[in-house]
Amino acid sequence: MTHVLIIEDAPEAAELATSLLRGAGYDTSTAATGEAALELARAVRPEVILLDLGLPDTDGTDLCRSLREFSDAFIVMLTARDDEIDKVLGLKLGADDYVTKPYSPRELLARIEALLRRDRRGTTEGPSERRVGDLVVQPEAHRVLLDGEEMHLTRIEFSILDALTEHPGRVLSRSALRERVWGAEWYTGDHVVDVHMANLRKKIDKGGRSHIRTVRGVGYRMAEGDEA
Ligand code: CA
Repeated sequence: MTHVLIIEDAPEAAELATSLLRGAGYDTSTAATGEAALELARAVRPEVILLDLGLPDTDGTDLCRSLREFSDAFIVMLTARDDEIDKVLGLKLGADDYVTKPYSPRELLARIEALLRRDRRGTTEGPSERRVGDLVVQPEAHRVLLDGEEMHLTRIEFSILDALTEHPGRVLSRSALRERVWGAEWYTGDHVVDVHMANLRKKIDKGGRSHIRTVRGVGYRMAEGDEA
């Protein structure tokens, strides 16, 4: 049974998540403080951790880093406001996904299922290849195939796609993409990201497909499965 550790200090919110997840067939445990969370994470070795960003005894972002040091669980951050997501994304905490509270039960379950469908970190052998629908990205070979046909992308277009397909369910903010593709020391305006994004989409979105989703006010993410 897949175990989800719920780290949440508000009792009603913790109960809600518990009944939702148990109803969906998951095993759960709950921690209301950072200290209890670290202890439980070591003891139960959860596959998924739901982490509320606002905890009384510790900063959620610090806790995320501490968990990452010993746990390879998928970490889903729960943030209170949309604008916190952008802040959190910039911190490179090692969380796998972000959900804004209040969340819809269906959305949270869908996100968790999407994470569990992914290859577990570190278990894939040989040259890495990422498949997103009909798109195949081969990072080492710097190659992208669409329907088996090699695409001719610029270095920047490739880097954008490489960054987005690294964690398919995750939204990358424009600033995170900018830093990843151009480097932190370069100043490149957001419009430059948009221009390259538009060119990239022209190349990979054929026949009405849309591989990259714009998340308004946040950034971009890869479309998942039958979304494309
Ligand atoms: Ca809280």
